[in-house]
Amino acid sequence: MKSYTDANTVSHFIGGHTTTGQSSRRQAVYNPATGEVARQVLLAERTDVDAAVENAHQAFEAWAATPPIRRARIMFKFLQLMNEHRDQLAAIITAEHGKVFSDAQGEVSRGIDIIEFACGIPQLLKGDFTDQVSTGMDNWTLRQPLGVVAGVTPFNFPCMVPCWMFPVAIAAGNCFVLKPSERAPSAALYMADLLLKAGLPNGVLNVVQGDKVAVDALLENPNVKAISFVGSTPIAHYIYQQAALHGKRVQALGGAKNHLVVMPDADLEQAVDALIGAAYGSAGERCMAISVAVLVGDVADKIIPRLADRARNLIIKNGMEADAEMGPIVTRQSLEKIENYIQIGVDEGAKLVVDGRGHKVDGHENGFFTGGTLFDHVTTDMRIYKEEIFGPVLACIRTPNFASALEIINTHEFGNGVSCYTRDGNIAREFGRRVQAGMVGINVPIPVPMAWHGFGGWKKSLFGDMHAYGEEGVRFYTKQKSIMQRWPEATQKGAEFVMPTAK
Ligand code: NAD
Repeated sequence: MKSYTDANTVSHFIGGHTTTGQSSRRQAVYNPATGEVARQVLLAERTDVDAAVENAHQAFEAWAATPPIRRARIMFKFLQLMNEHRDQLAAIITAEHGKVFSDAQGEVSRGIDIIEFACGIPQLLKGDFTDQVSTGMDNWTLRQPLGVVAGVTPFNFPCMVPCWMFPVAIAAGNCFVLKPSERAPSAALYMADLLLKAGLPNGVLNVVQGDKVAVDALLENPNVKAISFVGSTPIAHYIYQQAALHGKRVQALGGAKNHLVVMPDADLEQAVDALIGAAYGSAGERCMAISVAVLVGDVADKIIPRLADRARNLIIKNGMEADAEMGPIVTRQSLEKIENYIQIGVDEGAKLVVDGRGHKVDGHENGFFTGGTLFDHVTTDMRIYKEEIFGPVLACIRTPNFASALEIINTHEFGNGVSCYTRDGNIAREFGRRVQAGMVGINVPIPVPMAWHGFGGWKKSLFGDMHAYGEEGVRFYTKQKSIMQRWPEATQKGAEFVMPTAK
């Protein structure tokens, strides 16, 4: 197995081979724990993207004609290889993203879940059949692959988010071009290599490394029939508009500001654990991270001191160290953005209870570390409340009752994940029914749906109609065809000039 983290240059993977293509531009990839440049990633030119799409296009006819059960068998083999190489992949993720190794292992497991789901593709592609819609005539529907489809993914889940896309798309008979994040590019190549070893024909999965140039080339290439995007909201909106302009199917998942409500009757120990894990896990660089605690009634006075104590004592280290609870931020630029937001919060008048800025880790003085930050008395007009910070910053809002808590959440422009901690069944039920968000947890802080349920937010957290993976994913990557059929023996003679009806 190639070791992509040792390579100096992260290449493209086109037609079953790693290649530098026509790319002369490169970008540094950092080890965020040390702050050092670990390697360079190629940035594709339009010609590289067109070559990848052409390879995929050439592979499509044969792959689409391959029986689904044989496509599933390749997925099974890939599943086995992913399980065998789970830790290598997790180490690659930690080396480029910074998240702690056990969290990276969890990410790989959640990616593997989707591959397992994709192994069931023969069942998932089954159509509907109606016998005798008219005398001697039957009608059935089937779902066929789209052709070449593309995925553009963010830095924060270099394995799991691509796995939301390519296993389902490929199992359904499409060929895929993946454009991973240029900040964490190696995991995609590692998975492409495993899929090739699993027996995937050349050209069915291609990886192009790059930036906006590569993404625009995918958006404009007429042979790309659909785009799946996951990333920040402004880019998701752009992808949605451009894909529509070019006549492509699109699902574009955007940013988030996830709220966790703590009701006065909740188990407060559990709520504190939930908030600490969900706000500071992965250094808050999760689209499902909790960044707002909505503390109802007298909850704030009871739990803020406990949250502060836990936030101050987070074990922040190189993510490869076994006891690390939180690793570094992905890049210095992101770190500066997060720490700037903390200053904005102070200037806006929020109470800074724990200030994580300037956190240093012994032996890793140049690493991109910040500590956990906790704000109290945050209000809904503040930028630290309204905007996605995407770092380990928890904003606490105090509110009198359930109705006002719900109102706060439903007024926010994002609607990805939400959670409510309570022991009251009616509150739980009302929260689930009335909250304006795509994914809801009741006493569950990060309700990332399982592989067969599908993932997606509401409002500005998702542009498009369908969620990622699950049966929604299968529908996204296939188009329905309806066939009506009769045979000459059953056919009545003579032209008909009226709308056909059942006879
Ligand atoms: P990002 O939007 O900066 O980048 C995502 C992808 O878009 C990358 O592949 C990048 O190369 C590409 N890109 C960046 N700028 C572009 C441009 N101008 N034109 C075309 N393509 C461009 O996001 P990120 O910083 O990598 O990831 C973090 C963001 O992703 C956060 O906002 C987070 O909430 C979001 N996210 C959302 C989900 C979800 O399911 N809703 C999941 C994970 C991450």
